Amino acid sequence: MTRIGVMGGSFDPIHNGHLVAASEVAARLGLSKVIFVPAGDQWQKSTKTEAEDRYLMTVLATAENPNFEVSRIDIDREGETYTVDTLRLLQEQLPDSELVFITGADAMANITSWKNASELWGLAHFVAVTRPGHQLDLPPAPEGAIEVLEIPALAISSTDCRDRVSAGLPLWYLAPDSVVRFIQKHRLYEAHR
Ligand code: ATP
Ligand code: MG
Repeated sequence: MTRIGVMGGSFDPIHNGHLVAASEVAARLGLSKVIFVPAGDQWQKSTKTEAEDRYLMTVLATAENPNFEVSRIDIDREGETYTVDTLRLLQEQLPDSELVFITGADAMANITSWKNASELWGLAHFVAVTRPGHQLDLPPAPEGAIEVLEIPALAISSTDCRDRVSAGLPLWYLAPDSVVRFIQKHRLYEAHR
């Protein structure tokens, strides 16, 4: 059975921390590909970047990697983004694959705030990757449902990226060049505070 990675996030913007996490989990767990799923608007975040811009940055960042794909399922869907819905839809689309949901340590700790948390464990295998500055607090889960993986530490967050742009600091080498140029072209984050 092929194993397919799923990485959800706001990707506001996508940065090298996301890409290293996906690449590392794909290599270590033998995933055939990783699908990046930008979240729809509204969910637990108050930033105003258009979903379409977050989607385009995710496409730019992943375009050159033959094992990376981007799905629009969460941005084309009405209402809030819940991981349980995302995984249900992906499982319908990919019935012959095992889904491997990739999160950073911080996102895994929030898992109990997710809708229908108990249903999650039957929909995918979960991998929590280490993340600098975030403690790994695993939620209660069945034996073997969550795997912890240590990955190269990149102390980058989208919040820092947005703050850097609004403070006039460079983003080069923290995110792919194509993403940095897209942010400049569309003047994203210049006055986000
Ligand atoms: P924000 O600061 O806006 O919350 P973020 O950098 O946390 O942005 P998200 O889009 O919220 O990015 O994260 C998507 C997923 O990527 C989450 O599971 C998060 O834990 C993980 N992630 C983000 N940055 C890193 C990193 N540097 N190392 C490992 N995992 C990361
Ligand atoms: Mg985050």
